[in-house]
Amino acid sequence: MKIHEYQAKEILRRHGVPVPSGKPAMSVDEAVSAADQLGGPIWVVKSQIHAGGRGKGRFAEVSSAEEIQAAADGHPLDGKGGVQLCRSIDEVRAAAEFMLGNTLVTKQTGAEGKQVSRLYIEGGADIAQELYLSVMLDRSNHRVMLMASAAGGTEIEDVAEADPEAIKRVHVDPAIGLGGWQGRALAKDLGLTGKAVNRAAVFFQKLVACYVAMDCDMLEINPLIVTGDDNVMALDAKMSFDGNALYRHKDVQALRDLSEEDEAELEAGEYGLSFINLDGNIGCLVNGAGLAMSTMDIIQYKGGKPANFLDVGGGAKKDQVVAAFKIITKDPAVKAILVNIFGGIMKCDIIAEGVLAAVQEVGLQVPLVVRLSGTNAELGRKIIDESDLNVITADDLDEAGTKAVAAAQGA
Ligand code: ADP
Ligand code: MG
Repeated sequence: MKIHEYQAKEILRRHGVPVPSGKPAMSVDEAVSAADQLGGPIWVVKSQIHAGGRGKGRFAEVSSAEEIQAAADGHPLDGKGGVQLCRSIDEVRAAAEFMLGNTLVTKQTGAEGKQVSRLYIEGGADIAQELYLSVMLDRSNHRVMLMASAAGGTEIEDVAEADPEAIKRVHVDPAIGLGGWQGRALAKDLGLTGKAVNRAAVFFQKLVACYVAMDCDMLEINPLIVTGDDNVMALDAKMSFDGNALYRHKDVQALRDLSEEDEAELEAGEYGLSFINLDGNIGCLVNGAGLAMSTMDIIQYKGGKPANFLDVGGGAKKDQVVAAFKIITKDPAVKAILVNIFGGIMKCDIIAEGVLAAVQEVGLQVPLVVRLSGTNAELGRKIIDESDLNVITADDLDEAGTKAVAAAQGA
């Protein structure tokens, strides 16, 4: 689960990680009064969306497609993007009026962009140096890892491509935490000098402690800055949490911004379905995560692309199957549906009844391929055969994959 920059900075503050002073604002008036309280003389107005690249992003309503494309090469604070530098309260007001309600397109939002309905007003920082820093879990080493580079403001994927040597990695011992010596060595490696070295080392330790205490799965500070007077601060913050640990962070759950999340995934969550939207055109309805993954594999292997991952679970009820089917058919990208069920605890006749009920309710505009195997498979097939549904049946996974891909291609 992701949260906004202003929420992440509040959590960082609580854990003793230095961030500039700032205040969230949901309206132009709030933005103006936040700027008033912060005092200036320089403010930065920052669009709050669950995507990065805001500085070099462009607002869709005022920019052409070419301009949006070209902005990525410009300066993040050129006065047109999702992060704007302001030198007076009037400029703060103008920036807030411009951003709120507008749709921001960045490298990470996709072409459709994201509507801005929250702002963060922050004091302008005196930046001497911008660095990249993130904390994540290095699964191959079973350890929390700090990743850093001297190229702040640049996405780490770009650094990895252009100059992989420039990325420094430091692993955290789970028993003793991040050592001060490790932090100082990393700071020096990044080119820091003077007081900034020790300050950075303390910053790294607090950041790692925050990451662990909050059950984060990713915590990215880009840029981490050294100020003119050698202070070390987080100028940006992206924080996301391990969904399996959210039960012990009620305060984090409350930060959820549903307007930023995928509608279909939210609806699926309400019915207890595991669902992830993907960008292909074959909708999949499967029971069990392993079978769902094999189904996606076979679709790719046969030259197609799955539109989603959907696991209805081991013991799904009819209404869950109906909900699952509806979620899939709602996606206009779906050109064929593959129902692939291996009946164990889940009985194939329940699936068949669920599919029939859903089709009666929402109709069926695309070809439907069904493969039923295991408990009550015969009964399930009979239910489908006896209906007047136009269903393509398959006996095994291979055949199901071939038929689904052909159906999606209109063959
Ligand atoms: P994004 O990564 O989404 O573009 P950032 O928060 O990293 O957003 O802001 C983009 C750039 O804007 C930063 O790299 C930095 O140069 C500048 N910036 C952001 N916040 C401030 C601030 N409080 N003071 C001065 N400059 C800022
Ligand atoms: Mg950033």
